[in-house]
Amino acid sequence: MNRTTILFTVGALVISALLLVASRFREGRSTPVANTQTAADEKPPGGRRVVKTDAEWKKILKPDQFYVLREKGTERAGSSSLNNVHEEGTFVCTACKNPLFDYKAKFDSGTGWPSFYQPVAKNAVKEAKDVAFGMVRTEIMCSVCDGHLGHVFDDGPKPTGLRYCMNGTAMQFVKKP
Ligand SMILES: [Zn+2]
Repeated sequence: MNRTTILFTVGALVISALLLVASRFREGRSTPVANTQTAADEKPPGGRRVVKTDAEWKKILKPDQFYVLREKGTERAGSSSLNNVHEEGTFVCTACKNPLFDYKAKFDSGTGWPSFYQPVAKNAVKEAKDVAFGMVRTEIMCSVCDGHLGHVFDDGPKPTGLRYCMNGTAMQFVKKP
């Protein structure tokens, strides 16, 4: 290596490092949900955890449930019967029955997906940054089994201004006794 090569290599490394820092910074600023409740440091309700292999989940879940919950799929808009549920009760995780949303927080978003303005408890769900499909979105997962539920957006109604856009397939409705 002569001096020019060394200088060039060092220069290139410095530039890549700067670009990396710059891109991190940009991503951080463009995250749509800045004021979301985060349960990152909190334990799931009751400290409960359900961990299974894909093969084990396949025995319990129907194919469309497995696709959404374990493969982070999205159900067709308007396909869930939960869109029309307005009775008193709780929406629980299909996979592990963890209570997720109260009927009081449900609203008609017009999207075709069951929508809520807040989870039943801060630690009922957890968030992750999702950069799939060229978008930066905040993924919502069940805090007990890590099942994919949907995403949260900041264009929801009062009092939180949040819209938890959920897959009905990932949830079951438990009517208030
Ligand atoms: Zn779950």
